[in-house]
Amino acid sequence: MTVEDIKQKLRAIPGMDVLLAQDWARPWIERAGRETVKRVINGELTAVRRRMLTGQEEDVSPERIREACLGALTEAERPNLRRVVNATGVVIHTNLGRSLMAAEAVRAMERAARGYSNLEYNLAQGVRGQRNVHVEGLVCDLTGAEAALVVNNNAGAVLLCLIALARGREVVVSRGELVEIGGSFRVPDIMEFSGAKLVEVGTTNRTHIEDYRAGLGENTAMLLKVHPSNFRIEGFTAAPERKDLAALAHERGVVFMEDAGSGLLVDGELLGLRGEMDVRTSLQQGVDLITFSGDKMLGGPQIGVIAGRRAVVNGLRKHPILRTLRVDKITLSAFEATLRLYRRGALDDIPTPAMIRIPAETLRERAEGLAAALKGRVAAQVEVVSVEDAVGGGSYPEKPLAGWGVAVSGHPAGGAGRLQALLREGERPVIAGARDDALVLHVRTLQPGDEEVVVNALAALQPEAGPLAGKGECACE
Ligand SMILES: *Cc1c(COP(=O)(O)O)cnc(C)c1O
Repeated sequence: MTVEDIKQKLRAIPGMDVLLAQDWARPWIERAGRETVKRVINGELTAVRRRMLTGQEEDVSPERIREACLGALTEAERPNLRRVVNATGVVIHTNLGRSLMAAEAVRAMERAARGYSNLEYNLAQGVRGQRNVHVEGLVCDLTGAEAALVVNNNAGAVLLCLIALARGREVVVSRGELVEIGGSFRVPDIMEFSGAKLVEVGTTNRTHIEDYRAGLGENTAMLLKVHPSNFRIEGFTAAPERKDLAALAHERGVVFMEDAGSGLLVDGELLGLRGEMDVRTSLQQGVDLITFSGDKMLGGPQIGVIAGRRAVVNGLRKHPILRTLRVDKITLSAFEATLRLYRRGALDDIPTPAMIRIPAETLRERAEGLAAALKGRVAAQVEVVSVEDAVGGGSYPEKPLAGWGVAVSGHPAGGAGRLQALLREGERPVIAGARDDALVLHVRTLQPGDEEVVVNALAALQPEAGPLAGKGECACE
């Protein structure tokens, strides 16, 4: 191209005013604001000019520019935090938002969000109240604790307890329980940060009551038991019973605390989880103070619960660090609603426990339904397969959950890795598993309506695997 050609082409690029006046721009101006639309168009025009000047062929027709702007606007206006389809079979998927909220909890959150509330207001006396009171009684009812306190999350709960009860003193922990959870919560690090001194006892696989006894000294404040949430040591192992640890702690006048991680509010058998200790039983066996998450196995919002003996919990209530771990009203309302469901015994109205205990037969039927829907729409090999699901969230490492799913192979768009990547690009991204170069859709974690999303997404994938359908249109609704 000559310089004259290039100049000619540059002049042919429609100007900002022309583009802004076009029909397609109006709904976007209403939706995103004039400045945003201008910024996006400007970005596109600059990119087009740059590509032209570096000699790359460039179609500068108004249609082509419009298409590019629509694509960029759709991208710019798409929420960053988006809903996805969890087809991994991992119920408490930390990367996908852990627990889903019960319908009752969602309604409670909406009420708390839309209206003023008695969050910190004592209605009977017309004076300032405590936000904690809205859930304390329920936690005590459900766990048998004498008192309870909630904070932002379980990591915060552990930190608060260590700072308030063991700062500058020693905490005895078994070497078998010095865990790291999700790469960001490491017991030794939290301990150091709290100012408590970690005293490790026993070995990785075996710790005896005598080890604990030998670890307790003049300056010991606490004996801490940590749930080894995301790993399992098998074979030649030993750990003392809680009641023996409690007896030892109380004989020496130190606090016996347990970081239970997930915090089961019902017998583990009810979820088909053998060998998992529930909070009530831990406390019955002599634990003074227990902490656990609200959004793991409990199935509520992100929150950290501290429950146990009144004297110990009361010692935490006025600690200044509590203010930095404060729970907001939306969370508190969702937690209260979830606890009320537990008190009513409505386990199947709480998504996380409900998904954990779906019978295998039901999963198989769902997988067959999904496979049938796919077979009509997708030119690929579709097969119902048994899969290993998981509780997840560093909650139950012992055994995978037996589940069912659908394997998709021989899809014209590509193999498992390619399909996984393409499904992540969709308007409603689908996160799926893979096995032996087949895409595997685990049905346990699919929500109502997700099957349709999955079928449509797989049906829309083209052999050449371009962008998914729907891009570029104003998805105003
Ligand atoms: C998950 C977990 C934590 C951290 O809880 P968050 O609610 O994520 O802050 C701490 N301790 C144990 C044993 C856990 O399993």
